[in-house]
Amino acid sequence: RMNRHSGAGDMGSPLKHFTNAKKKINVLFSDIQTYIEEFGEFIDDIGNSDENIIIEEELEDDVLAALEKINGIKDMLTRNHMKVVFFGRTSNGKSSVVNAMLWDRILPTGIGHTTNCFLSVAGCSDEGAYLLCNGSEEKRSIKSVTQLSHALSEESMSPDSLIQVFWPKSKCALLKDDVVLVDSPGIDVSHDLDQWIDKYCLDADVFILVANAESTLMQAEKKFFHRVNEKLSKPNIFILNNRWDASASEPELMEQVRQQHLERGISFLADELKVISKSQAKDRVFFVSAKETLQSRMPKVPGKADSPVYMADGHQVRLMEFARFEREFEECISRSATRTKFEYHTQRASKIIDQLHSKAEWLYTKATELMNECRDRRVFLLQRLEYIDNQMKLVTQRSKDGIVALANEAERQVRVAMSDEIRRL
Ligand code: GDP
Repeated sequence: RMNRHSGAGDMGSPLKHFTNAKKKINVLFSDIQTYIEEFGEFIDDIGNSDENIIIEEELEDDVLAALEKINGIKDMLTRNHMKVVFFGRTSNGKSSVVNAMLWDRILPTGIGHTTNCFLSVAGCSDEGAYLLCNGSEEKRSIKSVTQLSHALSEESMSPDSLIQVFWPKSKCALLKDDVVLVDSPGIDVSHDLDQWIDKYCLDADVFILVANAESTLMQAEKKFFHRVNEKLSKPNIFILNNRWDASASEPELMEQVRQQHLERGISFLADELKVISKSQAKDRVFFVSAKETLQSRMPKVPGKADSPVYMADGHQVRLMEFARFEREFEECISRSATRTKFEYHTQRASKIIDQLHSKAEWLYTKATELMNECRDRRVFLLQRLEYIDNQMKLVTQRSKDGIVALANEAERQVRVAMSDEIRRL
């Protein structure tokens, strides 16, 4: 019990697939952010130097814009979660299923506590539970379920509005692993299912239809999932035939009813909606009792003796079936969210990186061109220098030769003059 409830050391949970992927992708995005920052600093350094002939302001702006976009994506990724939405007719036990999965009575259930708007439950830090109403920033702390149900009944909410409940992650494994659970008003009360889907379902990873095992699937329930199927490609749908404990009183009929519900459920998913194959569909239909599961999972109140709880025959099997459902659900939501939630962001990031890469490449080519130009000029100047040098040498040599010749001539003439004079004397 402790394991699933607290999530302590539960490394085997399929949900870890998503949370680990999320951690890895966050590290990757931090690396990308560092690289872009370094690139930006490098460009700034050159741009600010007096000798800059290559960096233009536009490039500096582009790098800044890329950094902002990457930061934005990183932000979205840290807020990314797995989302499951519960639908069904009023009183089929949607809130009870959510509570059973959270191992505590968090959402109010039962007569007079009909969920009349959308209610999401997400994890928060350990400081304490709170709720946000309809997009408002004002955090209202909640100490107990009774307080929550009062808060909910005080609010006059329209069916398509949202109340967000934030519950300490440490209290529940699902919340710790970034699952957000969304309860909906009874499917029978709304006329505007499309608006519901557009507002709350487009990013849902899994849909759970909480049906009543005591009756067959209603047209309203089917119709809703047909609409979902039109708007989303191959949604992941589970069918929980809840209140299965009620059939324990008629054991002779039980197997027959179960078979009938199972066949209808499979046929709805595989033949009617065509979201899954027939053989896989049998792992999407379950027979459970949310009420019993919740009762068996409720945390013990310290100092209070356990009051004996009456459980109908076969409750162990129903508890096991609930746990089997949770395992299938966790595998499905984790796989689906890992595949879909990161894809769009990584594609966007990849485009941004491609753009920066081509800018860096342009810069490199430009710098190489400039370097080559400088090298050619240097070679040219050196050659010129050598030529001039040689010319100078030549000139010097020539003038030297000329001077020597002149001097020799002068000497010769002096000698001639002198010998003439000697002769005369
Ligand atoms: P919702 O309107 O679909 O959210 O339904 P609730 O969760 O509020 O449940 C309506 C009533 O049905 C409550 O009184 C629950 O205690 C009861 N209920 C829910 N699940 C079960 C179940 O599996 N077996 C039985 N016997 N009662 C249930």
